Amino acid sequence: MTDVDSPPGVVPVKQRQTQARTRRQEDFSGEQQLCCVICRHAITSSRDATVRQGNHFHDRTNPDGRRFLIACFQNAPGCFVSGNSTAIHSWFTGYHWSFAHCAGCSCQIGWHYSGEQPFFGLMVEQLVECAGDQAG
Ligand SMILES: [Zn+2]
Repeated sequence: MTDVDSPPGVVPVKQRQTQARTRRQEDFSGEQQLCCVICRHAITSSRDATVRQGNHFHDRTNPDGRRFLIACFQNAPGCFVSGNSTAIHSWFTGYHWSFAHCAGCSCQIGWHYSGEQPFFGLMVEQLVECAGDQAG
């Protein structure tokens, strides 16, 4: 935990610039917080991004014909998982899936896959990059 969010309220300009510079360096190191597009609850970060079956992104279609672009994360602390896991129609061979929801607003944000290397497959359209310094 090296990231310290700016305190609420007025921040002197000089300090702001220093923080902005720090933030940019963090971006280069590949750490970007990803939040729920609906309620802005912090879901995961790019640091937890992982690769499953050869790719980080997967373009999949469910049996109902709905298409999803999902991204793989080894951890998503802002999610909760619901339902019993099942292998039926699993997009990842050898993995059982269950629903993953935003802990902030309970909307479905993707799926959790249990198996040899458990991971979250999160819908890209449900995630938005956020700096972590939420205004208001
Ligand atoms: Zn949410």
